[in-house]
Amino acid sequence: MPNRTTSRRTELTRGELAAQTGCNIETIRYCEQIGLLPAPPRSQGGHRLYGDDLRKRLGFIRRSRDLGFTLDETHGLLRLVDGGNYTCAQVEALARQHVREIERKISDLRSSSARSKRWPRNATAARYPYAQSSTRCSIPGPRVIRPHECEVDDESRNLGKGFFELGREADRTREHQLAAGGGAAATVERALDSAKFRDPFVTAKGEKRAAVSLRRLRTLWFNTGTLCNLTCRNCYIESSPTNDRLVYLSVAEVAEYLDEIERESLGTEEIGFTGGEPFMNPAFPAMLEATLRRGYRVLVLTNAMRPMMKMTEPLLALKERYPQQLVIRVSLDHYSRSLHELERGPRSWVPAFDGLKWLIEVGFVVHVAGRRFSGEPDSVLRAGYARLFREHRLPIDAHDPVQLVLFPEMDATKDIPEITTACWDILGVSPDAMMCAASRMVIKRKGAPHPTVVSCTLLPYDPQFELGRTLREAGGSVPLNHPHCARFCVLGGGSCTANR
Ligand code: SF4
Repeated sequence: MPNRTTSRRTELTRGELAAQTGCNIETIRYCEQIGLLPAPPRSQGGHRLYGDDLRKRLGFIRRSRDLGFTLDETHGLLRLVDGGNYTCAQVEALARQHVREIERKISDLRSSSARSKRWPRNATAARYPYAQSSTRCSIPGPRVIRPHECEVDDESRNLGKGFFELGREADRTREHQLAAGGGAAATVERALDSAKFRDPFVTAKGEKRAAVSLRRLRTLWFNTGTLCNLTCRNCYIESSPTNDRLVYLSVAEVAEYLDEIERESLGTEEIGFTGGEPFMNPAFPAMLEATLRRGYRVLVLTNAMRPMMKMTEPLLALKERYPQQLVIRVSLDHYSRSLHELERGPRSWVPAFDGLKWLIEVGFVVHVAGRRFSGEPDSVLRAGYARLFREHRLPIDAHDPVQLVLFPEMDATKDIPEITTACWDILGVSPDAMMCAASRMVIKRKGAPHPTVVSCTLLPYDPQFELGRTLREAGGSVPLNHPHCARFCVLGGGSCTANR
């Protein structure tokens, strides 16, 4: 018999609890996963039953979140209560600390707002080319000044972003929105217009679709296979422990493309490896060796968790032989454990952070990849990472966009403007700045007899971005016929290749 501490009359199923408390089912499930809410007893039929104690606890969690307490802070408050040996002074100290944090955020946002409001008055026509353009942009108003659209300095760009976040930020953070409702954006953004992104050459409005030509193959990426030890909430390519749509590449297949680079004198400088989790591929150390031996700079994207730690010996040997060529970029989706785990799953923070520290301790060049899903301005995100790195004495400069890359979020189901040829001028963005102007990625589909080349790291499944068997065949231009092209690259300024 299950351990039942409440009478049937007051017990609620998960659905009833959700309806009664206004929390959605996902939130309740997540609270249980991360230990904020203890697992409820079950009925004989196996249904979870939530008594009054759990209902009140969930109400407390929700109220804390409404007041802007982070998940870590809420955990802290509950730990005190659970331990039963707290004092009023301890609870008060936590609350006061929280008030100070809110005051700091309000002050940051006020100064961001003041500076951002001054931009348009100071802007010259040269800084805002779209302002004088007679061509109408298809991007609907109200017009948001994007970082690419003017040549203001980085600080102002970040502060500007802070200003545009003001409406939804205030004292209720994106962290709260994500955890408590599955993402505010999800409820306010429109679904993608099904007439868009159909014709590779013409947009839904009949305008000429933008395309990007390969200028030079500066970076060649290899997707070593989509299997991963994690299932992240919003993985760009849906990697997971069961997704083997892209199978493991072999060393010989990698070597075939490296040979082509040399044969065709393509001048490639950098080889990138991504997955899935590249260290899941048993041949990965040999691939690294084959690539480093040819003198390439190598960039590896990893979550630095167990699969990597199982390969420490060959990794150390490679570092000894090729000390300056190898850069490892570790994914830490947010500077806080709670938001990182919201994206990557419970108990994913400690192993990743331990892996990151190990890499630094033994002398690798390490960069970090974060994400913008919290909705915080870049300045706040970078400050958060800087605090984290400082606390742990990690020599990573969070204000250097190469050492800390921040990726925009992508959701191909949400509406986004299509990019026309006119948009380049209007937005002040060069097609040459797109990832597909300087890189390609090699993949191997499950069941395929050989690998193939796709336009970029973001679109490995869509057949229209499959460009050919060889690098030579894949050298043409790429029509920007996917929501990711607009959201991640043109408007989001994202690129997987930001190494040096
Ligand atoms: S997603 Fe970006 S890099 Fe990939 S094809 Fe589109 S614009 Fe190019």
